[in-house]
Amino acid sequence: LETEETRVFDADVGRILDIVAHALYSEREVFLRELIANAADACDKRRFLAQTDDSLADGAGEPAVTLIPDTRARTLTLADTGVGMNRAELIENLGTIARSGTAEFAKKLSGDAKTDGSLIGQFGVGFYSAFMVADKVVVETRRLGETQGFRWTSDGRGGYTIEPIDRETIGTDVILHLKDDASEYLDPYRLRSVVKRWSDHLALPVKLDSRKAKDDEGQAADDTDADAGVETINAAKALWTRPKSEIEPETYTAFYRDIAHAFDEPWAVIHNRNEGTIEYTNLLFIPTDRPLDLYEPERKPRLRLHVRRMFITDDCEALLPGWLRFLRGVVDSADLPLNVSREMLQNTPLLTKIRQGLVKRVLGELESRAKSDAEAYGTFWDTFGAVLKEGLYEDFENRDRLLGLARFRSTEVDGWTSLADYVSRMKQNQTVIYVMVADSIEAARVSPQIEGFKARGLEVLLLGDPIDGFWTMMTPDWGGKPIRAVGRIGDDELAAFPKLAEADAPTDGDDTTRDATAADGTLDGAALADLIARALGDKVRGVRPSARLVDSPACLAAGADGPDPALERLLARSGR
Ligand code: ADP
Ligand code: MG
Repeated sequence: LETEETRVFDADVGRILDIVAHALYSEREVFLRELIANAADACDKRRFLAQTDDSLADGAGEPAVTLIPDTRARTLTLADTGVGMNRAELIENLGTIARSGTAEFAKKLSGDAKTDGSLIGQFGVGFYSAFMVADKVVVETRRLGETQGFRWTSDGRGGYTIEPIDRETIGTDVILHLKDDASEYLDPYRLRSVVKRWSDHLALPVKLDSRKAKDDEGQAADDTDADAGVETINAAKALWTRPKSEIEPETYTAFYRDIAHAFDEPWAVIHNRNEGTIEYTNLLFIPTDRPLDLYEPERKPRLRLHVRRMFITDDCEALLPGWLRFLRGVVDSADLPLNVSREMLQNTPLLTKIRQGLVKRVLGELESRAKSDAEAYGTFWDTFGAVLKEGLYEDFENRDRLLGLARFRSTEVDGWTSLADYVSRMKQNQTVIYVMVADSIEAARVSPQIEGFKARGLEVLLLGDPIDGFWTMMTPDWGGKPIRAVGRIGDDELAAFPKLAEADAPTDGDDTTRDATAADGTLDGAALADLIARALGDKVRGVRPSARLVDSPACLAAGADGPDPALERLLARSGR
């Protein structure tokens, strides 16, 4: 235990350190975001452990991380009061790639210094980003519940050493020996601005101790601060408790990326304080990109539930319906007890009320975005429409609003169209909204089933998501107009609409010859159908001449009461 030990880095760490050492100048400041985030994690962990074990609760003091620039020593120290690390943890956490984000970064590396450099800004690369500004990093730390402290030292080239030290306090000091071209991180002004930019959303206080920071004349850089010694330089308040008007868009983004472990910009930010019978605050984000777990079978929503700022769980299914599981964010309620139990999290009327409120908020936001920026809304629909449509099947209460938000491909227009637009284009006497459900939009577009509709100028909406077979089965209507699959429209109903004029029709065929007589004119349609039916035997329930075909000689159709063929295939595939 008393000896110094030298070890080499994992091969993956070596690769990352190599990139980081050549990082672009503009990306470098993210090292501060990464190290402060680690301090915040460590403080959370300590608070959590102290809560579950009384013997660990003593002397915790205020959780904080303090930045200490020291001009004479040319070091920047980040001192936190978090959980600390023991020897094994130092080796495991700082000598190998511990986290998925960093591993993902390693996977994306292209070998092109420029591309790789810009990835650092997005991903961070965690602790190793310290080596962007430092040619030597020393970590002095003592783990909560242990008496021995340790010092970890590395120049970021190949290996590191660990030795035992005496250390009075629990927590971690990360001491950066700054490179010659990184002196800016000794400057209190620079540190304040970087912290404001990246870490303002953290509830953890980030402090600046500028007593050892001198300017060029050797004076204390900031006399007013030197008096006070230490100041808090971030807002140090849970972001969602702050007024919207005071929060910068990039602060929202930083917070979103933190809690969602995401790298995209939020597509929408929904931040409200709700007062009334129940009091709660929601800060919700709609991502731009599809989260990785979107199609996991559990379909679990991932909101973080807090009670009076205290984090309770991110596994509370009752907070959101499954069809909104792509949302990320925080709900903080003052009305739940702090020691809320698992059963309570499943079904309290309180949570049901909150869920209804959240659903309303999200639908309202989507409706207003759909109105104000149809193009952006189309992009949203591309990404999450299939998930939202699950609500058409599951959530009777919100079906009408969801139908209003739904977008479709169509036989008549390019791009996405809404039901409202469809209805405005409906033919005189048309009372039904026609949809074609297939395995994909492309398959729906070329299906023989819709030929007769196109020939009559009747617009058909083309559906191709697995869920479409389900919700259309429930024959919903919209604005009093039933939505029905073309396969369920009877021939009489279709034939009531005249075909378009010859010139407009997509075929040169003539109704009477096509439908009623065979090519040589000797056999009528019914007789031909009968012949085919006998040839196919058991394989079909029946064969009949049809008004729906124009170019194709035949197609499969569902019986009026049988399940839709697309749905049948879907059920067969999912083994139901
Ligand atoms: P991540 O934070 O995503 O896990 P990092 O590379 O930033 O990845 O850090 C690796 C690990 O090192 C952390 O998970 C944590 O266990 C440990 N660590 C880093 N900094 C600290 C710190 N200040 N206090 C305690 N543990 C730390
Ligand atoms: Mg980290």
